Parts: sequence; C-alpha cells; structure tokens
Amino acid sequence: MPAQVPEYIQLLNPYVPGKPIEETQREYGLKRVVKLASNENPLGPSPKAISAAQKALRDSHRYPDANAFYLKMALASLHKTSATSIVVGNGSNEVIDFLIRTYCLPGDAMVTSQAAFIAYKICAQIHGVQTIEVPATKDLRFDLPAILETVKKNSRAKIVFIANPNNPTGTYVTNLELRTFLDEIANVRGGSVTVVLDYAYWEYVTVNDMPDPMDLVRTYPFVVMLRTFSKIFGLAGFRVGYGVADPSIISVLEKVRQPFNLNSAALAAATASLSDHAFIKRAQAVNLRGMKFWTKGLNELKIPFWPSQGNFLLLDVEKGLGMNGHDVYMSNLKRGVIFRPVTNYGLKHALRISIGLAEENEIAFKALKAERELRASLRGKA
Ligand code: PMP
Repeated sequence: MPAQVPEYIQLLNPYVPGKPIEETQREYGLKRVVKLASNENPLGPSPKAISAAQKALRDSHRYPDANAFYLKMALASLHKTSATSIVVGNGSNEVIDFLIRTYCLPGDAMVTSQAAFIAYKICAQIHGVQTIEVPATKDLRFDLPAILETVKKNSRAKIVFIANPNNPTGTYVTNLELRTFLDEIANVRGGSVTVVLDYAYWEYVTVNDMPDPMDLVRTYPFVVMLRTFSKIFGLAGFRVGYGVADPSIISVLEKVRQPFNLNSAALAAATASLSDHAFIKRAQAVNLRGMKFWTKGLNELKIPFWPSQGNFLLLDVEKGLGMNGHDVYMSNLKRGVIFRPVTNYGLKHALRISIGLAEENEIAFKALKAERELRASLRGKA
C-alpha cells in the first residue's frame, strides 16, 4: 500500500514566486528583461555585504556559526535588546514556520486578514493548522476589531499574523489601532495568544502614525516582531530573516531551529550590511523617487492603486485597463517586463508592481501605457 499523505498536504497550493529574469529571457527570446515582481532592492546588495561574503567563502570548509553570534550582537545593538531576544531564520519565511510549529497543533487555528502575505497560510497548512482569514476593510486594510472578535470566539486560535505594512496591498494599521488591539488580546485566554508583527518593509515606511515594533515587543510579552534582509538590505538571495521577542518565546523557537540554518556567507553579508547606513539611505531615496514617478504615471494612465508603505504598489487593473491582473502580467512578459499577478490572494482584479530604478520604472511605465493604448484601440474597433 502506498504511504499515506495527509489530505492537507495533498491539497496544498505551494508558494508561487516571481518569474525569474533568465526564464523570461529564454521563453520570449529577449535580451533585456525588467523584473518588478518580488519587492527586491533594485540597487542590489551593499558592496560591504558582498566583500564580507567573499571573505567568508575562504572558510567554507567549516560549519557556519550555529549561534549566529556576530549577527545577533549587531542586531541586539541595533534594537537595543539582548542576543537572547533574537532568533535567526533562513529568510523570515523560516521564522514564520518556526512560529506555527511551536505554537500550533494540527487542528489549531491561525488568524490573519484576507489578502495577508500568503506564506502565513501556506506554513499553517503544511502543519495541518487551519487558517481563518478575516475579511479586510473596504480599503483593503487589516480589520483588527474583527480579528479580535474572531480570536475571542475561537478557542483553537493560537496565533495571529499581522503584516505592517502588508504585502501585496501595501496598506498598514496605525499605532492607535494596533495598541488598542494588543491591549485587548492581552486579556484573551490569559494572554496566551501569540501576535506576530511582520515588519518586512519597515525601513520604507514614511508615515508617522505606524507603531515602532520594538516598542510593542517591549510592552507586550506575547508579541513577536519579524524582520528581513531580503528587502531594503538587498540580500534576498542570501536568505536571512529574524524574529525579536521576549527571551521566553525565543528560547522555544530556538528548539525547533536547525543548527546551521544560515550559511557562513549569508551571516557575514547580513552582519556587514547593517553598518552600511549610506546604502540604506540611498535605497530609501530610490524608493521615494520611484513612488513619486509611479503616482504621477498611474494617475496619468488612470489606473487606480492603493496607497503603499512598502517598495511596491497594488494596482486595480480591472478598473484601469478593463483586464484581470493575470492577463496584464502575461501580455507584459513579451514586452520584457515582469509584474506580479495576485490571483492567489483572491485579488484577480489587481496586479502588484515593485518599485525599480528610474530606468526600470520608465520601461515598465511605457509597457503599461502600450497596454492601455492597445485596449483603447480594441475598444474603438469593437
Ligand atoms: N513578510 C512579508 C510581508 C513579505 O512580503 C516577505 C517577502 N515577500 C516576507 C515576509 C519573507 O521574506 P524573506 O523570507 O525573504 O525574509
């Protein structure tokens, strides 16, 4: 008899990453392809990170530091906390997995919002944990009062995931909203519900009514902050992320972590990148300029979008172009531009674009403009 695979694994829809540049070049016979599909830093990695990784390669015959000593020291100093408050992951994605495995039994529930970052749901399902997606507000924001009610009603709800700002929507919850929510959650089942605040895009945030996640980690013992080196630090290919929380939480997460989950080059690159403040400033400036460019451009093309606090924008292409997101994505591949369809988020009408370098934004804008003109001419002929 063949081995039994649980139904929740059989039914799993794996994560769909952004389409790689080389694959698009091969398939469409293109020399130049612009990828605005995975919220990466278009500047590339910090030169300090590259040189640290190169040095680390010389010691590749040794196992990496299983305790990530130098990275944790640098992070502890950055966040004014202790190394025992930090767990590192192979991308923050791995820390999401640690959290589900640590806090949930199969049959328990994880609560998040509709259109929340999809890795939460995938990690939950891998472990037989049910996902309760609470409908988002009309403006595609997390509805925290509704999430609170859901957690109160479901005794099997063990963990809540809040992405702030969220990917792919770019929307955020305010200081007041989040603190009100956390004050209430503190009273649910004796404060035993874990709340994960995923701040993958925090360095891009420009509004001042979003809470500093470290203040929340210090105030609420059940809060875990997630951060990543994949976005503004430009190290997505190295896979480094981390969680910060009370040492009592971190010590159990450490139990489920594989000892060598981060390789030596990644550890060195991440540690070095933390000290390159000029690079971070440059990346913030590139993003801000790109946001201004797209705001103007999308208004000109009459394509509505959601205000974003990340390095990406979610476009309503159904309203703007009369097409669904997947079709806009497909037709722009042949123009050499990779966008990101978000049908798997239940957002068939939308398309996510990452902010690129000025030249990349220009090329992608022209591609969308060409799409718009093509649609208009087809409508004219009909
Ligand atoms: N959280 C959010 C909100 C994200 O958008 C992403 C990346 N798309 C991640 C976490 C995971 O990042 P990584 O695993 O590369 O650290």
